[in-house]
Amino acid sequence: MRFIDEYRDGETARRYAEEIKRITTRTWTLMEICGGQTHSIIKSGIESLLPAEIQLLHGPGCPVCVTPLEIIDKAIAIASRSDVIFTSFGDMLRVPGSHKDLLSVKAEGGDVRMVYSPLDALTIAKNNPDKRVVFFAVGFETTAPANAMAVKEARKQSIVNFSILSSHVLVPPAIAAILSSSTNKVQGLLAAGHVCTVMGYEEYFPLAEQYKVPIVVTGFEPVDILQGIYMTVKQLEEGRYEVENQYSRSVRREGNPAARALLKEVFAVIDRKWRGIGEIPSSGFGLSELYTEFDAEQIFGVESIEVQEPAVCIAGDVLRGIRKPQECPAFGNECKPEHPLGAPMVSSEGACAAYYNYKRIRNTIATQ
Ligand code: SF4
Repeated sequence: MRFIDEYRDGETARRYAEEIKRITTRTWTLMEICGGQTHSIIKSGIESLLPAEIQLLHGPGCPVCVTPLEIIDKAIAIASRSDVIFTSFGDMLRVPGSHKDLLSVKAEGGDVRMVYSPLDALTIAKNNPDKRVVFFAVGFETTAPANAMAVKEARKQSIVNFSILSSHVLVPPAIAAILSSSTNKVQGLLAAGHVCTVMGYEEYFPLAEQYKVPIVVTGFEPVDILQGIYMTVKQLEEGRYEVENQYSRSVRREGNPAARALLKEVFAVIDRKWRGIGEIPSSGFGLSELYTEFDAEQIFGVESIEVQEPAVCIAGDVLRGIRKPQECPAFGNECKPEHPLGAPMVSSEGACAAYYNYKRIRNTIATQ
């Protein structure tokens, strides 16, 4: 298949790996931002192709993983109401809140439904005028345009029983938080290609300049990632810190202007709490003043719910690239995909789940 097969070609991958080895003269620490890239790296064994001098850290780009515990508890509080149909993508249903997950709410009789699009939730609202229908709007800049479209359509079609619980997060402020941290080890970044398909990559120029870090917009297939690593290492070896675009088959510098205009109308940039990391200024989307009547947090009065994260879970360190999943004492023991303690073990994009499923570390643990 065009744009897929050539980016999974083993011979091309090996050639990039050899080139990376040839140009590497010292140790470099790189971070891929996106959970989809982490998944691809672990699944295709990319780390084993790289020279020992190149270390990859896995960033906070799994939307399920960074959704704070208190948002899950807010979702559970809303979904438990008898007058509500709560809708969500499937991966959020198993994310543990303080005491239970959304699937447990469903098992207890709550009307919790898995949907494939926010527009499906809108249809459910249209067909159930006596219920209040809430969509769990989680994700980065990639999923936000579809959610903005659903809200705009609800207004256009006068569907007044529809609302969203927004937990959207934005990538550039998270990068700034990582790079400005006193514990930062990251010297080069692979930016997430799908986010840049929507938003473009203008926002990365000041970050590369301020933190003197090369940033390469990168795709998701194994050859994409190896090419992105090659471009990043080449910059580092040459003493450059520029923004480059490996994923040019999808990303334009200005992104998608229509999607950006829609986001600007429906959402406003707000401070947002990230799971395990804490509050990052201007790092999320909440509904703009024009659309506050679709804000489920306000409608159901759950804004004040606040909770502490479980002490054993080191997801914050994993998401900032400070520690690897297997350094967590609960990894593979109390915390497994079947019984996750933290969100990075729930989502297939989560670093903990990727390490557990593909690195076969569970076998090591099982034989200890
Ligand atoms: S292994 Fe589980 S408990 Fe440990 S950091 Fe990952 S999600 Fe949290």
